[in-house]
Amino acid sequence: MSPIELNKRQEEILQIVKGNGPITGEQIADRLNLTRSTLRPDLAILTMAGFLDARPRVGYFYSGKKPGQDVTDTMNNMKVKDFQSIPVVVREDVSVYDAISQMFLDDVGTLFVVDKQSYLTGVLSRKDLLRASLGSQNLTSIPVHIIMTRMPNITYCAKNESLIQAAHRLINQQIDALPVVEEQPDGFKVVGRLTKTNITRAFLSLSENHDL
Ligand code: ADP
Repeated sequence: MSPIELNKRQEEILQIVKGNGPITGEQIADRLNLTRSTLRPDLAILTMAGFLDARPRVGYFYSGKKPGQDVTDTMNNMKVKDFQSIPVVVREDVSVYDAISQMFLDDVGTLFVVDKQSYLTGVLSRKDLLRASLGSQNLTSIPVHIIMTRMPNITYCAKNESLIQAAHRLINQQIDALPVVEEQPDGFKVVGRLTKTNITRAFLSLSENHDL
């Protein structure tokens, strides 16, 4: 969002309201030796942009918020659990061939790999499976644990974490999905899947909540 440039008079009004609010339009005009009607457009801009709040019969007061602050607040309050999807998991001994079939069946781009106790041990991306398919081996005889990215190199998130933090991880690690995990004494249980699609959905939800 581009910051709104205030002119000199609007800056002056802001300072007056900051120091003296709530204050009426009439009183602001007096301080600036201007008429109320001259100030009207400036007050309208400052109010619409969210710098000032106006209450009938009380006057103007400083909102303490920068323009766009409401959207920022909403974004910071978004949690992983509000946007995560259902995880698709396969066991470590499943073949590359079966993992590819699973990816098509569940229409996902990332599979999570778990051991016999259902603890997270790996991640399989589309390209991991494509790479394995380039070789001449029989895909039904290669278990996925040979080709997966494995613990402790897995980037994950928790359901109560902020969505922004999780989005940073997706971007910084250049990956498409994070397993949403619950930490247990012997490992991580996979409870969700957070993908770039979930982040896009969260982004769209902002436009539903706000007149951007
Ligand atoms: P693709 O490889 O299909 O473009 P990604 O960008 O998600 O998909 O994956 C890139 C590499 O990172 C792959 O080798 C994959 O195993 C690995 N990877 C994917 N997700 C994670 C994750 N959450 N933690 C660690 N490694 C991951």
